[in-house]
Amino acid sequence: MAEFDYDLFVIGAGSGGVRASRVSAAHGAKVAVAEEYRVGGTCVIRGCVPKKLLVYGAHFAEDLMDARRFGWNVPECDFDWAALRDNVLAEVTRIEGAYTNTLESHKVDIVHDRATVAGPHEVTLASGKTVTARYILVATGAWPAIPQCPGAEHGITSNEVFHLDALPKRVVVAGAGYIANEFAGIFHGLGSHVTVVNRSDRILRGYDTQISDRLLQISMAKGINFVFNATFEKIEKQADGSLLVFMNDREPLPADCLLFATGRLPNTAGLGLENAGVELDESGAVKVDEDNRSSCDSIFAVGDVTNRVQLTPVAIREGQAFADTVFGNKPHRVDYGCIPSAVFSHPPLAGVGMTETQARQKLGSVKIYTSDFRAMKNVLANRNERALYKMVVDADTNRVVGIHMIGPDAPEILQAAAIAVKAGLTKQAFDDTIALHPSMAEELVLLK
Ligand code: NDP
Repeated sequence: MAEFDYDLFVIGAGSGGVRASRVSAAHGAKVAVAEEYRVGGTCVIRGCVPKKLLVYGAHFAEDLMDARRFGWNVPECDFDWAALRDNVLAEVTRIEGAYTNTLESHKVDIVHDRATVAGPHEVTLASGKTVTARYILVATGAWPAIPQCPGAEHGITSNEVFHLDALPKRVVVAGAGYIANEFAGIFHGLGSHVTVVNRSDRILRGYDTQISDRLLQISMAKGINFVFNATFEKIEKQADGSLLVFMNDREPLPADCLLFATGRLPNTAGLGLENAGVELDESGAVKVDEDNRSSCDSIFAVGDVTNRVQLTPVAIREGQAFADTVFGNKPHRVDYGCIPSAVFSHPPLAGVGMTETQARQKLGSVKIYTSDFRAMKNVLANRNERALYKMVVDADTNRVVGIHMIGPDAPEILQAAAIAVKAGLTKQAFDDTIALHPSMAEELVLLK
């Protein structure tokens, strides 16, 4: 008789959990993964994937306008929200199926049930069944945080936004981070009137200020409204189903949809982690060491539930490192340096390495190179929207320590540039590279 039912029991089939399950099974472990909702987790089901498809959908608003300047006879076009929504949801279902197939082909048992931790080696399923495992991996992700105020239940979050019955005419987006800016661009592009409301006086804290300021300026020029230093007082539902959003010192704002995009908190509530002595931090995140091990020796955690870096590719790396270390006899750790990230706003922005402010604080002496230009396509389209590329260089070593950009396809361009920053290349290495002309990316090797 085996000592445990499984070598590994994973709670949560999102990006981190699926990678850890599949790779552990490939290393020979007997694995089960429990998922209370749908295989794929936030990224596939209600995050990166459907969001990016909506971003593409919204961008056609500008593309169809611009096409006329390129000689196309474009008739008046209508937009059909239900068609886009249903096609996106069908694609999500297809990817969910692909994830399920991968798990099944690796002989991972998928348990469609909520699992809670009953002890260091024990999990209880909602059905009442108890399962034992040598190791438990918590990969339950994060959940939208909603600021408390009367009537907050009338708002929705990114969990519900992909399922709206109709495109709302007036949207209030609470928050000014990733989700807020991405959905402001989506709703605006699709034809809604959008107001972004934030508690502070800036957007996208953490990104280089010059780049986020440029997004603010472009978004305002497009017609997106911004309200800063605002606190929600109450949300009232009106007889016609619309909402009135009350804030401090301002007239109430009418809306047909209020989207909360005010951060995401680790999903540990009711998970039973206290039954195994797993310590949490003040945000509710599982505290882990560099090998993803919690304060209980047999319980590990990866991804958003650890609140290190809330990004899919990081969760995947953590899941891989866990599996290789615990079951593959190939111990390694995730390197958290120089993680590139992007916001799929309209236009998108992306960054890697230190911002100018961070570099000045850390290195003291830095050199900044920028290119502020209008993409060729925008010039012909009569679109007065300027891209901005910025390179942050350590003045002592000439090493490029950060690249930040906003403009068409910025995330596509930054991914390649991030390799150079991660590899520690110097500004000279960029200068020595011949430009690929005509492209936007060539600005990176022409910075003066
Ligand atoms: P962010 O952390 O990006 O932004 C949260 C926003 O809400 C900020 O503007 C913040 O204000 C504000 N806020 C935070 N708490 C409160 C509060 N209690 N009351 C009012 N306002 C508040 O969170 P998101 O929800 O946009 O996204 C969650 C995470 O998901 C991101 O951090 C990111 O890691 C990930 N994500 C990544 C994407 C990508 O890679 N493209 C896309 C979407 C999400 P301020 O900071 O101004 O004080």
